[in-house]
Amino acid sequence: MKFTSLFILSFLSLSAIAQHGYWQQRAEYTMDIDFNAENNQYSGNQELTYFNNSPDTLVAVYFHLYPNAFQPGSMMDVRSRSIEDPDSRVGSRIAALTPEEQGFIKVNSLEMNGNSLDYEVSGTILEVMLDKPILPGKKVKFEMDFLGQVPVQIRRSGRDNKEGVAYSMSQWYPKMAEYDRYGWHADPYISREFHGVWGDFNVNISIDSAYTLGGTGVLQNPKEVGHGYAQPGDKMKLPDGAKFLWKFKAENVHDFVWAADKNYIHDVAKADNGLTIHFLYKDEPDIYENWQKLQEYSVKLFNFASATFGQYPWSHYSIIQGGDGGMEYPMATLITGQRSLGSLVGVTVHEVMHSWYQGALATNEGYYPWMDEGFTEFAGSKVMSHLFNPDEDTRRGRFYDSYLNLVNSGKEEPMATRGDYFKTNYAYGAAAYGKGGVFVGQLGYIVGDDVLMRSLKRYFNTWKFKHPDPYDFIRIVEGESGMQLDWYISYMLSTTEKIDYAIKRVEARNNETIIALERVEQMPMPIDLNITYRDGYEEVINIPMTIMRGEKNAEDDTKFTVKDDWQWTNKTYSFSIARSIGEIEKIEIDPSQRMADVDRSNNTLILNPDTQTIISN
Ligand SMILES: [Zn+2]
Repeated sequence: MKFTSLFILSFLSLSAIAQHGYWQQRAEYTMDIDFNAENNQYSGNQELTYFNNSPDTLVAVYFHLYPNAFQPGSMMDVRSRSIEDPDSRVGSRIAALTPEEQGFIKVNSLEMNGNSLDYEVSGTILEVMLDKPILPGKKVKFEMDFLGQVPVQIRRSGRDNKEGVAYSMSQWYPKMAEYDRYGWHADPYISREFHGVWGDFNVNISIDSAYTLGGTGVLQNPKEVGHGYAQPGDKMKLPDGAKFLWKFKAENVHDFVWAADKNYIHDVAKADNGLTIHFLYKDEPDIYENWQKLQEYSVKLFNFASATFGQYPWSHYSIIQGGDGGMEYPMATLITGQRSLGSLVGVTVHEVMHSWYQGALATNEGYYPWMDEGFTEFAGSKVMSHLFNPDEDTRRGRFYDSYLNLVNSGKEEPMATRGDYFKTNYAYGAAAYGKGGVFVGQLGYIVGDDVLMRSLKRYFNTWKFKHPDPYDFIRIVEGESGMQLDWYISYMLSTTEKIDYAIKRVEARNNETIIALERVEQMPMPIDLNITYRDGYEEVINIPMTIMRGEKNAEDDTKFTVKDDWQWTNKTYSFSIARSIGEIEKIEIDPSQRMADVDRSNNTLILNPDTQTIISN
C-alpha cells in the first residue's frame, strides 16, 4: 500500500514529495570505557539519551550485543558451518574458540530514567521490556554498566588480526537497534550487515599509554595523548599514569569504530574544504612506501568524490590498518594493509565511497545491501578511472560481468532478498555488488548519464543523514528525468527476470527499410540502437516504452531520433527508416553495453553490400 501511495504522489511536484511524512529516531551516547589490555576486557558505562520521534508508543527496546556472535553455537557460528559456501575467514573457527578467545558483552545493570529495568539476553540481542512506555515525541535516558571481552579477530572486529594489529574495535558496544518507518530492526548478528540510529557519540577510552588509537569522530584532547594528534608547537599535557584517556566526539553518525596498536605510524593529510585525513598503519618496512603513496591518492579521491557525488559532510576521516579485508564505518575504515599499491588504493576507494553510500545515506543494509554496495561499486568505478585512467568511458563499470556470471550460474536470487537470507554467500555478493552496480549504471542507459549524475548528487543532498529506501532514490531520478521508473525497481529488485533484445529482421520496402526487433526475455527496456550507413553517417535511435511516460532526448550531446513508444505487452516492434537497405552497413542494439543484455550475440547485424542480405550477427 505504501508503494501505491508513493506512485500516486509522483504526479505532484518533486519538492512536495521529498521526505513526505518522514521521521527518524535519535540517540546521544556518552560512554566511559576502561580498557584492560592484559586480559582483553573492557568495562563500560553507557548513558544513552533516546528520542522517540516516531508517531508510535514504544513498550520495548532492543540493543545489539554483537560480540556475543563469537561464541560456539551462536547463530553466526551455526550459519557459517551450514552454508554451502562459507566465508573462509569464519568457517568453523568460532566453534573452536576457548573461553579466553571468545567475545561477549555482559550487562551488569540497566536503568531507564533512574529505574532499573528487566532484560533478557538472546544471543546478540538484548531484549528490554519497559515498565513505562516511551510516548511519541518523548526522550528517555538509559544507563547501562557492562563488561566486554574482545574476541580473537574472526570477522570484522577482534584482537590480533592476521597482520598483527592489536585491536579492531567495530561492533563492540551495546548499540540501540533502529526503529524506523518499517518497525524494529533487532536482527541477530549472523554475518551481515548493519543499521543504526542517527545521533552523536562521546566516547572516552582509558587505555595503556603505549597504544595509538584511531577511530570515528574527532579527538577532543590531543595535547593529553599526543600520538600524532597534537599540532607542532602544542604545549603537551600528558598524564603521569600508565593509562591515557582518549576523548572522541562524533556528531551526526550512526556507529562508532576504533582501533589500537602499539606500533602504528600516524600520518595526517589535508584535502579540500578543510578535511583532515588520518592514516594509521603498522611501522613495517614492507608496507611503508605504499602507505605513503596512498596519502596523495586519498586526497584526490575525496576531492573528486565531493565534487561528483556531493560534499563529504564531516571534518575528519581515518584510514586505519585493521580488520580482515575492508569495512566501512562512519568517518573511518578498517582495511588490511599488506597489499600492492593498486590493491591498497582500490580497497580505500571502495571503503571511502561508503562514506556517501552508508555513512551519510544510511540505507538499511540488512534490507538493501545493494543500496550501499552497488552504489559504492558504481561510484568507486568512476573514482578509479579518475585516478588511473581519466580518458576511459566510465559509463559501464566492471560490475556488469559479475552480474552476468551470476545469471549464468543459476544461483541468482531476487536482489530484494535480505542480506542474511540469501542461500549462498556467492549469490549475496554478486547481487549486492554486481547487480546493485548494474542497477545504477543501467539507469544511466535509461535516463542518460548526465541525468543520472545529477540525480545522484540530488539524492545525496536530499537524503544525507537519513535512511533512504529504494523508492526514495528512484523518486529523485523520476524527478530529474521526467520518467516513471516504478517498473524498473519492480523487475530489478523483486524478480530474477532477464533482459535480452534481438534484431529479428531487416527488409527493404520500396525505398525504405523496415527494422524489426524482438524482446526475447521477460524484462522490458527502452532501446538505444545505432545504424551505421555506408557513407559514414551514424544515426542514433531511441525507442522509449509507454510505461515510462517520457524519454531521453539527448545524452552527452548526442541527439537521438526518438521513435514511437514500445508497449511492453508486444514481443516485437518494427520501425522504418527513410533510406534503402543498400545504404546500411551495420545495426547495433545498445553499443554502450550498459543494458545488461544476457545474450549480446543477437544485438548486431552487418549487411552484405552486394546481395543486401544479412551476413553476420
Ligand atoms: Zn562495500
